[in-house]
Amino acid sequence: MKTLLVTGGAGFIGANFVLQAVADGLRVVNLDKLTYAGNLGTLSTLEGNSAHVFVQGDIGDRPLVQRLLAEHRPDAIVNFAAESHVDRSIDGPAAFVETNVVGTLGLLEEARDFWRALEGTANSFRFLHVSTDEVYGSLGADGKFTETTPYAPNSPYSASKAASDHLVRAFHHTYGLPVLTTNCSNNYGPFQFPEKLIPLTIQKALKGEALPVYGDGKNIRDWLYVGDHCSAIRRVLDGGRIGETYNVGGNAERENIHVVKAICRILDQRQPLSSGEPRESLITFVRDRPGHDRRYAIDATKLESELGWSPTQTFESGIEATVNWYLDNQSWVASILDGSYRMERLGA
Ligand code: NAD
Repeated sequence: MKTLLVTGGAGFIGANFVLQAVADGLRVVNLDKLTYAGNLGTLSTLEGNSAHVFVQGDIGDRPLVQRLLAEHRPDAIVNFAAESHVDRSIDGPAAFVETNVVGTLGLLEEARDFWRALEGTANSFRFLHVSTDEVYGSLGADGKFTETTPYAPNSPYSASKAASDHLVRAFHHTYGLPVLTTNCSNNYGPFQFPEKLIPLTIQKALKGEALPVYGDGKNIRDWLYVGDHCSAIRRVLDGGRIGETYNVGGNAERENIHVVKAICRILDQRQPLSSGEPRESLITFVRDRPGHDRRYAIDATKLESELGWSPTQTFESGIEATVNWYLDNQSWVASILDGSYRMERLGA
């Protein structure tokens, strides 16, 4: 059985990845600091499952990482751990540098030393770093990001992710560490923390509250269903060429306002407001985020042609599945809104 050391596996994408990996027969050691974004409730179905070992800790804690590597001897590290919310990075960039840059550096150094000690054995160790399309900056009306688009990060978040990507690349070129990097577009789907656009809109729309939309609502993101993202990472892990970067996108460019209206329409059908008002009337344009990138779009041709991956969800099927998931899992959302998710511990 293959073992993965997954970092940030109690967060949105990491937890979806862990659940999928364990279901597919992999063993996962899950290292997560449990910041506000980490939620063990998401992993409750793995309670008592010996294929999942949860360890609360920081990726920058080198003795801890060293111990986990020595003890579990993983076949790969998959690094999701990060501070991930752009608005929070504007209010407080230091935590983003601490985890995304300094933390990733510590993890890389421990990975390098562990991998070096494997030399001489038939080892297929990999370090896969999960990153974002935001490192490429903002697009005009045309074109898409490819793996060779120059980096031009515009927010403290994307700058910190760009720095971590460069460190990963440098560890391959300097030390030969067998790294892989994936840069993906905006994810959505089950278990996303309700500070991000889609879950926030669902929650507010359900309650009939004002639906805030930044600026004119015409910022465009390429929406990627989280399950498709997780399968792309697995594909890269299994077949990606060492030292390479792969872009992952959903082929689903949509303006933010389109996303919000789609959620309103689905909810109006599933659970109309008692007033009978269409939820679109709740949309409220608010002052734009400083430095808000206008458009992101991913060209995932490399991943599709080299590794045969393509997304299974369209935006329409993915958003419907997501809204339905939130409707069916209101207790998960409630545990975040009332803070009780922070008290949860696996096995407690
Ligand atoms: P998230 O904020 O939901 O989860 C991050 C997880 O990392 C949390 O469980 C948190 O507790 C943990 N963590 C934070 N600092 C840590 C540290 N120092 N040590 C150990 N664990 C720590 O984030 P997400 O949306 O799941 O994103 C996962 C990764 O994917 C990130 O690297 C992010 O940059 C990248 N990404 C996300 C998106 C997206 O749309 N969500 C898009 C592109 C790339």
